[in-house]
Amino acid sequence: MSLPSRAEVVVVGAGLAGLSAATRLAAAGRDVHLVDAAEHAGGRLATSRVDGFLVDRGFQVLNTGYPRVADLDLPALDLGWFWTGAVVRVDGRAHRFVDPRQHPTALPATLRTPLGGPHRLAALGAFSARAGYAPVSRLLTAPERSAAEHLRSAGVGEQALETFLRPFLAGVLLEDRLETSSRYLDLVWRSFVRGRVGLPARGMQSVGEQLAGRLPAGRVHLGTRVTAVDGRSVTTGAGTTVADAVVVATDPDTAAGLLPGLQAAAPRQVTTHLHVLPASPWQAPLIVLGAPGGQLVNTVVVSDAQPAYSPDGRALVASSTLSPTREAGVRTEIARTHDVAETDLEHLTTVTVLGAQPAATPPLQHRRPVDLGDGLFVCGDHRDTPSIQGAMASGARTARAVLRRLSRSAAPASDRGPA
Ligand SMILES: Cc1cc2nc3c(=O)[nH]c(=O)nc-3n(C[C@H](O)[C@H](O)[C@H](O)COP(=O)(O)OP(=O)(O)OC[C@H]3O[C@@H](n4cnc5c(N)ncnc54)[C@H](O)[C@@H]3O)c2cc1C
Repeated sequence: MSLPSRAEVVVVGAGLAGLSAATRLAAAGRDVHLVDAAEHAGGRLATSRVDGFLVDRGFQVLNTGYPRVADLDLPALDLGWFWTGAVVRVDGRAHRFVDPRQHPTALPATLRTPLGGPHRLAALGAFSARAGYAPVSRLLTAPERSAAEHLRSAGVGEQALETFLRPFLAGVLLEDRLETSSRYLDLVWRSFVRGRVGLPARGMQSVGEQLAGRLPAGRVHLGTRVTAVDGRSVTTGAGTTVADAVVVATDPDTAAGLLPGLQAAAPRQVTTHLHVLPASPWQAPLIVLGAPGGQLVNTVVVSDAQPAYSPDGRALVASSTLSPTREAGVRTEIARTHDVAETDLEHLTTVTVLGAQPAATPPLQHRRPVDLGDGLFVCGDHRDTPSIQGAMASGARTARAVLRRLSRSAAPASDRGPA
């Protein structure tokens, strides 16, 4: 169904930010239309089927430690869980480093992981306790520096930094210099301390589709690219829709093109190679980290956490690198990391995402303005933090700002405050 010529609100972009804004506006009784250039709702959370396997567009997970996950119906997503922790390789040997609160039986193996000794593990525990349980206001006002400086000053030591923290965080922050803001690192680490990470049974795209399903019929317009906006209208190839408020909820680059003057942070990229193995080589659903000096940041048997990703019980492996790589260039490293023969790895597909998430280097601009004035609004992970949490939180903030504007403009002129 095409966009009408008139709507109360048009949201441009059906990623998690636009969906969060649109569902809140619809729940408040507003006449809202959501438009997206792609053929699916969910934006960067995209999933396709390749030879029966569920393939997310780049390895990503849903972290239940994110506050905005409260907006989702988690049971309906039917999540399969990873253990919190990772397999780390030291001198070629694999060690399971696991959060003992969730898996007490893994404690002896965790304590034996050579990450610099008990005092370094204690420092990591203290770092985790602060990030996990200090008030967010304290984390966001602490002196800001790079993530690497922050971890060093917490006393975690070089061994833990190089063999565990750097590759683990590189997979999350999509950069391995650890130049990301210490404040964002605290927020990310908080989510790991407080939550679990999992994959939905129908793939990551189903997170967005769940939100899209809450909008009234005929309000989501897919396959429709917006070419221009202002606070009163949205233009697509099919014509112009006049609106009281327009929300730009696209990726940062497109937002900067549609909204002159808006700055887009540098994009992070990732390449993910998908392979099939006859069976999983591991006993537990854990992220396996790349070794220092290698190209892989991690390589993960995703079907160990979520068996529904495989149609036939074979193991689906997602292996990620930060710079673009060819499958042939990392195949040996993937096989070595999982202790399997190269010939056992059947290459399924490779995905490179150039604008996977915006950088969050210091100074962290958490909660950038979303109300641009004159009926024009902007939301997306680039307004809050480069994550599912950031996208959803910015959508929620923007919905509140739109509702404020609509109620102001509906009030009699004598009741209106300054614009
Ligand atoms: C490979 C990868 C791994 C990631 N890993 C994680 C992770 O583990 N945990 C985590 O929290 N986050 C992760 N992220 C980041 C997270 O997915 C994003 O921060 C979040 O999904 C961004 O949502 P958004 O709504 O801001 O933007 P988007 O999802 O980019 O949505 C923007 C939408 O706008 C649409 N659009 C663009 N231009 C136009 C136009 N002209 N007209 C109409 N529509 C348009 C797009 O089609 C898109 O649907 C990862 C991202 C990737 C790609």
